[in-house]
Amino acid sequence: MIMSDNPWQRARTQLKNTAKHLSLDPLLLARLSNPDRVIEVSLPIKMDDGSVRVFEGFRIQHNNLRGPYKGGTRYHPKVDMDEVKALSFWMTFKTALIDIPFGGGKGGITIDPKKLSAGELERLTREYARKLAPVIGPTVDVPGPDLNAGGVIMELLRDEYSRVVGTDTPSITTGKPIDRGGSEGRTESTGLGGSYALETFLRLMQRNPRGMTVAVQGFGNVGSYLARYLQEMGMRIVALSDSKGGIYIPKGITDLKAVEECKEKSGKLAGCYCVGSVCDLSNMESLGGRDVSPEEVLTLPVDVVVPAALENAITEENAKDIKASIVLEMANGPTTLEADKILARKGVLVIPDFLANAGGVAVSYFEWYQNMHGETWKKDAVFEKLKEKMESAARSVHEASKEYSVSLRDAAYIVALKRLAVM
Ligand code: NAD
Repeated sequence: MIMSDNPWQRARTQLKNTAKHLSLDPLLLARLSNPDRVIEVSLPIKMDDGSVRVFEGFRIQHNNLRGPYKGGTRYHPKVDMDEVKALSFWMTFKTALIDIPFGGGKGGITIDPKKLSAGELERLTREYARKLAPVIGPTVDVPGPDLNAGGVIMELLRDEYSRVVGTDTPSITTGKPIDRGGSEGRTESTGLGGSYALETFLRLMQRNPRGMTVAVQGFGNVGSYLARYLQEMGMRIVALSDSKGGIYIPKGITDLKAVEECKEKSGKLAGCYCVGSVCDLSNMESLGGRDVSPEEVLTLPVDVVVPAALENAITEENAKDIKASIVLEMANGPTTLEADKILARKGVLVIPDFLANAGGVAVSYFEWYQNMHGETWKKDAVFEKLKEKMESAARSVHEASKEYSVSLRDAAYIVALKRLAVM
């Protein structure tokens, strides 16, 4: 693996490069360049056939200067320590940038959840909660959802943690189902937050979003809501893809809901050319569309390109082919260090991940706050508070980029570092 492709090395390099602009205490820099604590746990469980298997789980508590460690839980066969360290590091900067009283953490279990039965997954999750219980807590470390670990897993973690400590503790996790203490608006929050961030920058640049064209790579939770909200702003969504392929309709994909339903029904986005209630290839020609690969989506002639799938989507190889003037990073770590330099040379405005996708953790904080104070907020109130958070963070980043003559990514680090430095 070359150095720029290792997210943990990249995160540390980004920190080193931006810290140069500030005269920071070397102790703070050393603290942020290393996680506070790396926790590894063994998870023996009984399988449905009566055998016993031992899985490996962990939790990285990167930094808690601003509040309890906060971050997702990843269930994936290739859970890699460096990747999770980087993700926990970015959480520290994301929570500081969006100005919520949390630090940064991340966790996971090395597992392919599709290969376990529901019962086995439940036993595994309960074992993980039991092993972590002594080192997490609503004011210590608050796990949230991430890849393959959604609301059901969050609810199981809460239930088992509550059993261990002897009292129901909804605030131990976020991302729970709404009827189990979850917050209104959490599902939409990351996509909606990204649209607020982009809208703020367009306003500051005096650019009208109406008619601007957008291509989105990744049509899951984040990509689908983002596309919907950008369309509501008057932008033209022209391309969408998931991991298997995508569609490109230069005059615009009008009925996003129909495309979503088609993807759900057929299991893939490719071929979802929708006219009325019919979504199939027969409509491709009349819509003037064509199929695209997930990779090609990033290099189409559009105004805004959105990586909303995985890390390392924009690399040294494809950065030079990017034609958009704005990259809205909704995935975590989608641009390698080398690619970042190429985009800067081309004058592409990159709205960095830990600003663009911070809406998710902002609403996680609202969920935690509601749980801690026994409150229930309406969706409109959640969206209003989210808007304030995203706009304020985007404006601070814009101001810092002007003041220090740096990229938005460096500016986002500077804003977050200044907040961490006063703790
Ligand atoms: P998801 O699993 O719901 O969707 C991911 C989408 O990406 C799917 O459509 C999948 O088919 C597609 N995909 C996977 N590999 C691909 C590839 N090689 N090319 C093109 N598409 C591919 O996940 P999500 O919750 O939407 O998260 C997307 C990204 O946003 C991740 O990087 C995640 O870490 C980040 N993120 C998510 C949240 C959140 O609240 N969900 C918050 C912050 C950051």
